[in-house]
Amino acid sequence: MHYISTRGIAARHTFSTILLGGLAEDGGLYLPESYPQVTDDELNLWRTYSYADLACAVLAKFATDIPLADLRTLTQKTYTGKVYCNAGDGDASQITPLKQLEPGLYLQGLSNGPTLAFKDMAMQLLGNLFEYTLDKQHAELNIFGATSGDTGSAAEYAMRGKRGIRVFMLSPYKKMSAFQTAQMFSLDDSNIFNIAVEGVFDDCQDMVKAVSSDLHFKSLYKIGTVNSINWARVVAQVVYYFRGYLSVTATNSEKVSFTVPSGNFGNVCSGHIARMMGLPIDKLVVATNENDVLDEFFKTGTYQVRKAHQTFHTSSPSMDISKASNFERFVFDLIGRDSQRLTALFKKVESTGGFDLSGRPGSDGDEFNRVAGFGFLSGKSVHRDRLATLRQVYEKYGTIVDTHTADGIKVALEHRDQQVPMIILETALPAKFNETIHEALGFDAPRPAGFERIETLPQRFVVMQADVEQVKSYIAHQTEC
Ligand SMILES: *Cc1c(COP(=O)(O)O)cnc(C)c1O
Repeated sequence: MHYISTRGIAARHTFSTILLGGLAEDGGLYLPESYPQVTDDELNLWRTYSYADLACAVLAKFATDIPLADLRTLTQKTYTGKVYCNAGDGDASQITPLKQLEPGLYLQGLSNGPTLAFKDMAMQLLGNLFEYTLDKQHAELNIFGATSGDTGSAAEYAMRGKRGIRVFMLSPYKKMSAFQTAQMFSLDDSNIFNIAVEGVFDDCQDMVKAVSSDLHFKSLYKIGTVNSINWARVVAQVVYYFRGYLSVTATNSEKVSFTVPSGNFGNVCSGHIARMMGLPIDKLVVATNENDVLDEFFKTGTYQVRKAHQTFHTSSPSMDISKASNFERFVFDLIGRDSQRLTALFKKVESTGGFDLSGRPGSDGDEFNRVAGFGFLSGKSVHRDRLATLRQVYEKYGTIVDTHTADGIKVALEHRDQQVPMIILETALPAKFNETIHEALGFDAPRPAGFERIETLPQRFVVMQADVEQVKSYIAHQTEC
């Protein structure tokens, strides 16, 4: 299996080669040359598998240059009840458990890993894959990134204590929630470096861009990233769509729909890939918050990104995006994998902020009429809806969900089809976003065991100006000693 860039110019590569990189050299995103297919017999066999075995079977179709025995070791090490322990008391059969809200309506719990958000599902595997690959190459990697909360902590918890890997994570000083700050800054592993920047998230992001564009520094200090376009993360997320489908159905002739709280289009992109592999998914429903670029596209065929000052700070902050970085992967398939047109469309995003596939006079194409064939639908939920949904879910089902999941439930209910079960992906635990839970319900969200006093633990971080030279010399100093 080889990987090609959506922009069509970069060379084909194997899974292991693209694992440690981000964008392709031509600025595109990697996708497999063709999607591996799943057979009826495989699906039947997979019904009996543990999560770790299922992950191994799905991954084996994409990572064909890693020996199967090694993949098995890696997935067995990653998907344990101990790592995903916030449900089922460390019982591995409870990895991504399903909760029935009412007949035909389910929540799939993806946030039982160490940082209480679904990003742990892929990032934990990525940590083990990185360590394995670097070990073989006797190489080292310095992961450098910026976070406003969830991604940074998922990366740090996945990479802590790993041989050959250091993590340098920028975050805006005093701008994350107390819980998120404590999660990151209380880590005391010697390969984790928390850098609190006197500025906002955009300053941190700009510093990462500046360092990444210094190719000499980048290669000298072996700088890598773990952002949401990483292909291995997307593949790891494909697994739980299979798991959800197999848990809800008895035979492969049944269909299931998924609703996915979305920001960068990483999670639902994995659902798209599962569907392209032949998993009988009926609808993929994209749920957005006030930042509704994706809802606008799936309703009208117009993709128009927003500027930073047009991006709202909301109570489902992990979906506050103005530009969906994985969306290019779907558009590539939507327009029939024509890299030249794809490149022209995304050049237009850079120059004019968007493109229009509605087929109206003067538009850039008419492929919007193919969207339904890919199963996509969408909806939007704003703060008022979020509060109402949190209350409704608590009163009707006795369940407390997080704010992003609430957006998913609101939108899922608008797209119910009585004939087809609907699974809503739960993307975080409510404890992470307690302020809004308290606003909606009048009491605090429950905290999983081990997190009761996290804010009181000693914290380890350095404070720095938003100064590129300063952060470079810090990285240089830490990697030399
Ligand atoms: C990252 C995140 C999302 C958005 O996922 P994408 O893959 O960016 O679409 C939704 N909810 C939570 C809690 C997240 O952390």
